[in-house]
Amino acid sequence: MTRNQSRRLFLKNSAMATSIYVAGSRIASNPSRASVIVVGAGAFGGWSALELLRKGARVRLIDAWGPGNSRASSGGETRIIRATYGSGRIYTQMAARALQLWQEHEQRWGLKLFFRAGVLWMAGPDDSYERASLPLLKESSVRFERLSVTECEKRWPQIRFEEISWSIFEPDSGYLAARRSCEAVLDAFIKEGGEYRQARVASGPIASDRMQAVKIASGDALIADSYVFACGPWLGQVFPFLAQSITPTRQEVFFFGTAAGDLRFTDAQLPVWIDFGRRFYGIPGNHWRGFKVADDTRGPAIDPTSMERHISEEGLASARSFVRLRFPELANAPLLESRVCQYENSTDQNFILDRHPEAQNVWIVGGGSGHGFKHGPAMGEMVSHAVLGHKAPPTEFALARLLKKSSC
Ligand SMILES: Cc1cc2nc3c(=O)[nH]c(=O)nc-3n(C[C@H](O)[C@H](O)[C@H](O)COP(=O)(O)OP(=O)(O)OC[C@H]3O[C@@H](n4cnc5c(N)ncnc54)[C@H](O)[C@@H]3O)c2cc1C
Repeated sequence: MTRNQSRRLFLKNSAMATSIYVAGSRIASNPSRASVIVVGAGAFGGWSALELLRKGARVRLIDAWGPGNSRASSGGETRIIRATYGSGRIYTQMAARALQLWQEHEQRWGLKLFFRAGVLWMAGPDDSYERASLPLLKESSVRFERLSVTECEKRWPQIRFEEISWSIFEPDSGYLAARRSCEAVLDAFIKEGGEYRQARVASGPIASDRMQAVKIASGDALIADSYVFACGPWLGQVFPFLAQSITPTRQEVFFFGTAAGDLRFTDAQLPVWIDFGRRFYGIPGNHWRGFKVADDTRGPAIDPTSMERHISEEGLASARSFVRLRFPELANAPLLESRVCQYENSTDQNFILDRHPEAQNVWIVGGGSGHGFKHGPAMGEMVSHAVLGHKAPPTEFALARLLKKSSC
């Protein structure tokens, strides 16, 4: 079936009397509104549900453990938002759009979700990624400064710039309160008329190119016109045909303590930083939770449901050694807190937004690959356009690229 045919089919089905049914009983009935079930209330699912609702759909959002829960990839305290993305034009554009939406929603909701600390991206000996970023930042009107090491040292004497060749500074970027944002999105979704439920969802039978229903743990079947599965690191469990395409990896995060009242290592005086060559990044201040340091290197594959979340001695030693190198004054800073999270890596680290290959009314959204959070609001817009047939999703996010050899 071509995209045009499936769009016609979708519109035809949407125009028919279509409602959400729970165990056979009708709970909403407005034949002119398409009904959508969104599974997963993380950064991608939450924003998708909200945007679908705002575009007129009847939306039910379901999550097994709740938005930003301790197992979810969106469940951390904070997440970086930056637009430097090498040659990844789509991500620079999405980050610029997302930043605008995050700020608009902060105002609208009267909540502090975005911290404009600036982002310092340090280039290592190979600076091809950074050089590729510059024209795209310009193209998307993202403000940035290209700084020499001398300029960086003058501005941030707290950092030792050994082995750094130069830096990109984005003054308008920073970090987001992650878990809090997921909750804020859910609150808005409910206030604006969405239905939320906590339950584990299993995909349902597919016939005639469509999923007929989804099942929840109680055994009830839920029916809607379209289904969006934004299950983060669980996507490969919900749809086994995706198991080879999405690998959840174990990632450790450390929060070190700075001296009382010392603002030099907080976001008041130090931006969010990324040492791309050494694959470390961090968030000073980090919403009062300490000096956050994390290694972006992909850890071992894990099961996000059953993984024990203790940090490893090697991970801590490696983080300390990095801190000693780059922030020598913090060499003996105590560890205050730690977290073990997971990235939900697609094979090529690009996102997924596409239909299920065998069910035209099922959308798969995910593959955040360690950089998805910031894009939540922009992704939500794209998902809503795709599901409601307004605009095809970006070809970069097509499933075909990952499923070359596998079959469903
Ligand atoms: C340590 C760490 C640091 C990161 N740093 C950054 C950063 O600085 N900037 C950035 O932009 N991104 C960052 N990321 C990546 C970003 O957090 C993720 O890409 C993003 O949060 C993924 O969101 P998601 O909605 O796809 O998945 P999730 O947040 O995992 O949401 C999926 C949801 O689906 C639910 N679910 C799963 N299966 C089912 C089921 N069968 N039924 C019902 N519900 C189900 C889960 O409970 C969960 O709430 C980081 C990630 C980690 C782990």
